[in-house]
Amino acid sequence: MPLKTPEEYVESLRALDLRAYIGGELVKSVVDSPMIAPHINTVAKTYELAHIPEHRDVMTAVSHLTGERIHRYTHMFQSADDLVKKIQMLRLLGQVTGTCFQRCVGLDALNATYAVTYEVDQANGTDYHERFKRYLLDVQSQDLMLAGAMTDPKGHRAKRPSEQEDPDAFVRVVERRPDGVVIRGAKLHNTGGINSHEVLVLPGTGLIPGEEDWAIACAVPADAPGVTFIFGRQSNDSRKLEGGCDIGNPRFGVVGGEAMVVFEDVFVPNERIFLNGETGHVGQLVNYFATWHRANYGGCKGGNADVLIGATAKMTKVLGTDKNAVVKDKLIEMIHMNETTYASAIGASAMGYPLPCGSYMVDAMMANTVKLNITRNVYQIGRLSHDLSGGFLATMPDQKALENPEIGHLVRKYHTANPEYDVDERIKLGRYIENMTSVTTLVEAMHGAGSPQAQRIVMLGQAQLDKKMAMADQVINGTDDVAGLPLPGRRRPADD
Ligand code: SF4
Repeated sequence: MPLKTPEEYVESLRALDLRAYIGGELVKSVVDSPMIAPHINTVAKTYELAHIPEHRDVMTAVSHLTGERIHRYTHMFQSADDLVKKIQMLRLLGQVTGTCFQRCVGLDALNATYAVTYEVDQANGTDYHERFKRYLLDVQSQDLMLAGAMTDPKGHRAKRPSEQEDPDAFVRVVERRPDGVVIRGAKLHNTGGINSHEVLVLPGTGLIPGEEDWAIACAVPADAPGVTFIFGRQSNDSRKLEGGCDIGNPRFGVVGGEAMVVFEDVFVPNERIFLNGETGHVGQLVNYFATWHRANYGGCKGGNADVLIGATAKMTKVLGTDKNAVVKDKLIEMIHMNETTYASAIGASAMGYPLPCGSYMVDAMMANTVKLNITRNVYQIGRLSHDLSGGFLATMPDQKALENPEIGHLVRKYHTANPEYDVDERIKLGRYIENMTSVTTLVEAMHGAGSPQAQRIVMLGQAQLDKKMAMADQVINGTDDVAGLPLPGRRRPADD
């Protein structure tokens, strides 16, 4: 059965010959780096849960290519039920790890490439789709982790890729050969890239005729010659080097361990190229990826918020405020926001519809609504958690103070609240809340899967305001002409 164990995942990373810089220094092995270990532990959980019988239904699926049971993280969405199960999987993983488990970008990038290669071939008579299916078989049979690489540095934001002073501001083809292409450029905010097997490079923005060199989609082994990872900093990240309770989420870290990945004239053979110059299909590729990924946030952030709400509720017990009606009401507010986004993600999935290739797409309006709500609700849930936990979050002593025999007893004496709980418990909870509501987490919720304005633009496009005006006419002016009004239900882009 093509399901890696967590141990096999870690060993397969060790076998890679990566060029990776952490803290400005070249590291020999990301597996042994304390800066990366929590992110690897999180991905290892995605492998582990697939082997647990009670989670088999959401963590695995049957490959439509081979009929074999595979990891859901390598599966093409074959039904609305598949889309719903993906959201359930994300909530489960969020609850188990309390952070980002990184594999979803690669999954959605795989699905977007599968769908668009089919459409390109239908339009142009090319053979990208069969080529991609051969690659997908490898991914499924080896249960690979893919990093989806979408976001280009983008240079001057008012200029197109072809207008940039530095043409490498967007990943591009610098040489075409009979056996492949050579690419140059970089991708930023690459979630899980430094602990992935492969990087699936896709354009990050729509392109126009004349920009064929930027219309490149391809798969690159993470340790291919010319690929360099430069790991990003996070709030409080050097605490990982100290150990102890001050890390916050000691086993699983904070968000996805993002890196920039640089391609310095990397050769990509033909069998790994899935789009090469077809500018007219790039916008759809970006759209498919973004729509699937935006729905995800109701699942993963839902699971993360379950852990945060749990930590906050426990903190109220530690403080002795848990019986207070106002405190309970604030916890209800956190739960309400969390369940609202989860419900939208499930709804977007349940209303999924088939694309020309046979895969299923989520409802775009609801998926974008999920993500736009996340850009607010993660902040609001964090704000309420801060409110209920108190200023101690920002001023609490550290593990070393607790352990110091000269002052540890003073820290314990003056930080004891409800005596049923010891101070170590209070500090651990506080550190978790501090880390999971700090800058890195909040910014990820704001900009991951696209910044809020990107969701607003799609929502306006999907809203069918002309039809809403017809509804208003019908109700206010009593016209009986309701022809063309949209039924509630599945909304395909083609219906607009
Ligand atoms: Fe997956 Fe959520 Fe992380 Fe995106 S932010 S990779 S959807 S866990």
